[in-house]
Amino acid sequence: MKEIQESDHTNIIYQYLRDDAKWPHVWCSGCGNGMITSSLLRAIHQMGWKKDEVVIVSGIGCSSRLPTYVDFNTLHTTHGRAIAFATGVKLGNPDLNLIVVTGDGDGLAIGGNHFIHACRRNVNLTVILVNNYIYGMTGGQYSPTTPKGKFATTAPYGNLEPPFDPSELAKAAGATFVGRTTVYHAVQMDKLILQALQKKGFSFVEILADCPTLYGRLNRQGTPVDMINIFKEMAIPIAQASKLAPEKLQGRITTGVLWNIVRPEFCEEYDKIIQIAREKKAKMDKVEEEYLSKKRTEEVEEL
Ligand code: SF4
Repeated sequence: MKEIQESDHTNIIYQYLRDDAKWPHVWCSGCGNGMITSSLLRAIHQMGWKKDEVVIVSGIGCSSRLPTYVDFNTLHTTHGRAIAFATGVKLGNPDLNLIVVTGDGDGLAIGGNHFIHACRRNVNLTVILVNNYIYGMTGGQYSPTTPKGKFATTAPYGNLEPPFDPSELAKAAGATFVGRTTVYHAVQMDKLILQALQKKGFSFVEILADCPTLYGRLNRQGTPVDMINIFKEMAIPIAQASKLAPEKLQGRITTGVLWNIVRPEFCEEYDKIIQIAREKKAKMDKVEEEYLSKKRTEEVEEL
C-alpha cells in the first residue's frame, strides 16, 4: 500500500482526473461531491492499482457524474442500475476492482432492489453511497433518506415518510463491510474508503454530504460551511454511541466502521459451481463415449 504525505494530497488528485472531460464540473459551489471525489482518488492511489485495473460505475444523479471526471474504466449507466452493471463486469473479469458511486435516490429508490440483493450475494465490490437526503439533479424531490418533516420540492409541507438508514439496511442485507462518515470528517472518509477497497466482499461506505443548492436552501440550513458543521455536531463515533441509550442517539449519526465480517465471496463461490459443472460434464461425456463405443462394437459384430 502506498503512503501519502500531507503535501501530496492535491497532486495525487490531478494524476487521476480525465483531461478530455467537460470542465468545469457540474457540481454547485460547496457541494460535498468534490470532497468525496478527492477522497476516493487518494484511496485508489494508496491501493497502488493501475488505472486499467479499476472500473467505476454510476447510475444517474449529481454524485453519479463522478466517473465522468476520473481517468479509469468508467460506466455511467441507467438510473438505479449501477450495481447490476458492476456485478456483470466483476463476474466477467473478477480481476478488476469495481467501485460503484451512487446517491440516496439512485441507490435506494429505483436501485434499492439491486442494492439489497448485491449485499446478500456478497460480490467483491465497493459501493460508495453519497447521502445528501434529496434528489439533487432532478430538482429537489424527497428521497428514501429525507428525514421525516424536512422539506423538498415534492414535500412543500414537510416529508411524511420515515427514512431508510442505508448502513443498517446494508448490514441487515448481508454486506460484509459497512462504514459511515460525513464530508466534515475528511480523514475518516479517506480511511473508510481505503478499508472498503481492501475488503474482500461487498463493502459499503455511506457518506453524509451537503447539497446546499436544494436540501440546504429548502430546509434553511445556511451556507455549505454551516451545513458541514451540522454534520460535525450530529456525528458520534460508534464506540461512544454503543455506550449510550437509544433515546440519547435520536438525531445523531453513528460514524466509523459499523460492521465488518467475513462471508464467502460470490465470484469464488461461482467458480466452484463452474468447476462442479465441468466435472459433471466430463463424467457425462465419458459415459456417452463408452456407450457409443460399445454400440459401434455391437454393430460391427452384427455385420
Ligand atoms: S444540486 Fe445539490 S447535490 Fe447536486 S451538485 Fe448542486 S449542491 Fe451538489
